[in-house]
Amino acid sequence: MLETTIAGSLPKPSWLAASQMLWAPWRLDGEALIEGKRDATLVALKLQEDAGIDIVTDGEQSRQHFVHGFLEGIEGVDFGRRTRIGIRNNRYEAVVPTVTGKLRRSRAAHAWEATIARRHTGHRLKFTLPGPMTIVDTLADAHYGDRALLAMAFAELLNEEARELAAIGVDVIQFDEPAFNVYLDEVAAWGIAALNRAAEGLGEGGSCKTAVHICYGYGIPANIEWKAGLGAEWRQYERIFPALAASRIDQVSLECANSHVPIELLGLLDGKDVLVGAIDVASDAVETPEEVAATIERALRFVPAERLYPCTNCGMAPLDRTLAGRKLAALAAGAALVRGRSG
Ligand code: ZN
Repeated sequence: MLETTIAGSLPKPSWLAASQMLWAPWRLDGEALIEGKRDATLVALKLQEDAGIDIVTDGEQSRQHFVHGFLEGIEGVDFGRRTRIGIRNNRYEAVVPTVTGKLRRSRAAHAWEATIARRHTGHRLKFTLPGPMTIVDTLADAHYGDRALLAMAFAELLNEEARELAAIGVDVIQFDEPAFNVYLDEVAAWGIAALNRAAEGLGEGGSCKTAVHICYGYGIPANIEWKAGLGAEWRQYERIFPALAASRIDQVSLECANSHVPIELLGLLDGKDVLVGAIDVASDAVETPEEVAATIERALRFVPAERLYPCTNCGMAPLDRTLAGRKLAALAAGAALVRGRSG
């Protein structure tokens, strides 16, 4: 009960990539980079296990960015043709690759690191993929001309990838959809349909569960500023949770620590597992176990204990590495506190 997990990413070691930034450049290349990614994956697993995290990830040590790691294996996405676009409804700008032709998955994107992670941990393993809507929002399109069509094309490729990851022995496939909190009308119009397509044939009583992570973004200045303008109560989840509750996804990962999300909105996810963010990734303050326990206990008023998984608000990639380790330990300690009180 109250098994802990993380949203996905962890900081990379300083010998592998520049630290405390997104899209951090690698510090190795060629064979040394391959070896470095492998070694960093083992360290990431060990850090989670030592901290007491129950359901672990590869820490996303082998990809430069959570969206573009998947895109690198897709034909039709031209990384040579870079376009500067505003993403997340122009919250910030990024230089992104461009879709220039029909999409096709030429090779597995993440089987290599998933296999390494699977071989080196006895814990349950979660693996993250970008969700279709978030992919569409993180690249430029010069071919499809329609976001819904493009999302469905990506959903088919994500489903192929997810099925292969499940066959490797991954226990949970999580689709990251921060864009769901931004394009509320599109979520209903085509976002959920694309997500369902990506998850087809997984979960639903099978051995591999599916999850969706919907957050308010990494703790970077553009996001912190955006959140400050969202008002006293963040009600975005209220619009999308009923549709998610009706989707085929098994688990929903969301942000609760230091957020302005009214906690009763969790009640809209009836029947789903809920990954409750109890660690703030936008703050350098390490939560105390008591603070983590308080967040979990607030959520327990609306989510039954057997469906509640204490988690981080979002990925930890841009955080200081030592700080991330201390936050993981706080997460596990807070969950243990609540278990002790209710047991
Ligand atoms: Zn996130």
